[in-house]
Amino acid sequence: MNSNVRIKGLQSYHYAWLSSHPERTEAWMRERLRDGFHVHHMDGNHSNDEPTNLVLIDGIDHMRIHGMSVERNIDRWNSLAGKRAEADAECQRAYDLKAESGLPWVEVAKIVYGNQKPRDDRPWHDIAQPLANRTRKYAKRKGIAWPPIGAPK
Ligand SMILES: [Zn+2]
Repeated sequence: MNSNVRIKGLQSYHYAWLSSHPERTEAWMRERLRDGFHVHHMDGNHSNDEPTNLVLIDGIDHMRIHGMSVERNIDRWNSLAGKRAEADAECQRAYDLKAESGLPWVEVAKIVYGNQKPRDDRPWHDIAQPLANRTRKYAKRKGIAWPPIGAPK
């Protein structure tokens, strides 16, 4: 069982599963992982990535197979989902602002973060760049135009 809920990186067993499902893409798999699906090793051997040993199943069913507490993990997922929703809202705010104002990313970051430096004392430029990157990925995932209309280079 993959107990660390990783959203971004596909693991070897995801690629192994994809290799036997050529009609599915990496992007499709990432969507399923975001939906809470897991790949389960049927024989219990996590290093056996033979495609016949791998099934893609709903995470709740996966936890049942492994006898885990569904409630505890649902709490964890909800909190992860909440963080994702928050991050998405932040990216949408940044995207809209960029599209409407054409401000440089540094200025967008200052507004999105309410003129308060998040977490540390990094210069704004170092905060703006990751925000721009996250927003670009968000736009790609949502299928919206990039760069935002009207944004300067
Ligand atoms: Zn499993």
